[in-house]
Amino acid sequence: MNRNHADVIVIGGGIIGCAIAYNLAKRGVKPLLIDKAPAVGTEASWAGAGILISHASTHEPYPTLCRASLALYPTLAEELRAETQIDIEFIQSGTLSVFFNETEAAGLIGLADRRVKRGFSTEVLTAEQAWQLEPTLSKSIVGAVLFPEDAQVRNPKMVTALAKGAAKLGAKFQLGNPATNFIRESERVIGVVVNGETLYADTFVIAAGCWAGALMAQLDVPIQIEPAKGQIVLVEAMPPPFQHIIDGLGIYIVPRADGKILLGATVEYVGYDKTATVDGAKQMIDAGIAIAPQLTRSTFVQTWAGLRPYTKKGPLLGYLPGYDNVVLASGHFKNGILLAPITGQLVAELITSGQPSLPLEPFQPAVM
Ligand SMILES: Cc1cc2nc3c(=O)[nH]c(=O)nc-3n(C[C@H](O)[C@H](O)[C@H](O)COP(=O)(O)OP(=O)(O)OC[C@H]3O[C@@H](n4cnc5c(N)ncnc54)[C@H](O)[C@@H]3O)c2cc1C
Repeated sequence: MNRNHADVIVIGGGIIGCAIAYNLAKRGVKPLLIDKAPAVGTEASWAGAGILISHASTHEPYPTLCRASLALYPTLAEELRAETQIDIEFIQSGTLSVFFNETEAAGLIGLADRRVKRGFSTEVLTAEQAWQLEPTLSKSIVGAVLFPEDAQVRNPKMVTALAKGAAKLGAKFQLGNPATNFIRESERVIGVVVNGETLYADTFVIAAGCWAGALMAQLDVPIQIEPAKGQIVLVEAMPPPFQHIIDGLGIYIVPRADGKILLGATVEYVGYDKTATVDGAKQMIDAGIAIAPQLTRSTFVQTWAGLRPYTKKGPLLGYLPGYDNVVLASGHFKNGILLAPITGQLVAELITSGQPSLPLEPFQPAVM
């Protein structure tokens, strides 16, 4: 890499940009990753709950993508531990989705049936069976569905590990200033302007989460990626009251290995506003206590909000219309942590060989 020229410039150092940089570096490409923040992983990729939901959707090809990504996690966790000494805390804890009435039961059992048809494991449990697995669950639940393949990861540690792993393999980082503009030569982008300096590359990747739309507007490609705010409440309880991720009443509860418990998350379309509100926290706490009354005795630790990159047909993965050297990787919405390993792999394969191991056509960025 010359001082101002990289093989690939990745714009955005969230989990998606870092996964792409790591996968490129593993294939011998020297990427330069730039982020407006002074560190990687300070936005949605820090704020996320880290749930890896095998049953994220039933509409193909999305479940195939989710499943392929989840399958990469055990090996990636070991690889990152060996290369960086960081434990990303990948734990296959499973999800227990609880229901409180017949309507909720019908919805969840229907979902379980559809998941079984697609080869996922699910188990419909009576309330008694659910209480055996998780004794602190409310006595008002009428049953639950167990999704044993679901897992969790400590996403901030994962971003750090991906960045550290990429750096060890030769990736460079330029942090603390945004990419503000592109330099174009006919149909190609040749450079990106950061803090008044032009950085040149053969290929560019826009992995700027919910800010990707502004960068694409610079290239006259009007693809919208909206911020979808999510608020989380963190509490602590010892001994840990749950073994599984619990899902119900529109929220999830994630028991972390360190005894802390995440209650999340709201979905709010309020622009680039990251304030954590009393109302948002109340929604999470009320639902959490209804699911597990013992949570009233937990210690309040912290609350925060982050901005998921939302687009109707996300994620969007592939070359931007009209450009053969600008790749978009954004719009992962609620599942960016889950989808980071497969996104990193597919984008790196697209750039290095033109032959991604799963078809990217369904995720092709298009002007809507
Ligand atoms: C509350 C909450 C809970 C969630 N829970 C889960 C979950 O349990 N499981 C799951 O799979 N997903 C979850 N998600 C979603 C997941 O966090 C996101 O899909 C994922 O983090 C998106 O990653 P990203 O790298 O695309 O975006 P970000 O993490 O937002 O990264 C984008 C990066 O681009 C940088 N950037 C922006 N503009 C520029 C510019 N012009 N120049 C340079 N840099 C720029 C930003 O500084 C940022 O670092 C959750 C999200 C939230 C908010």
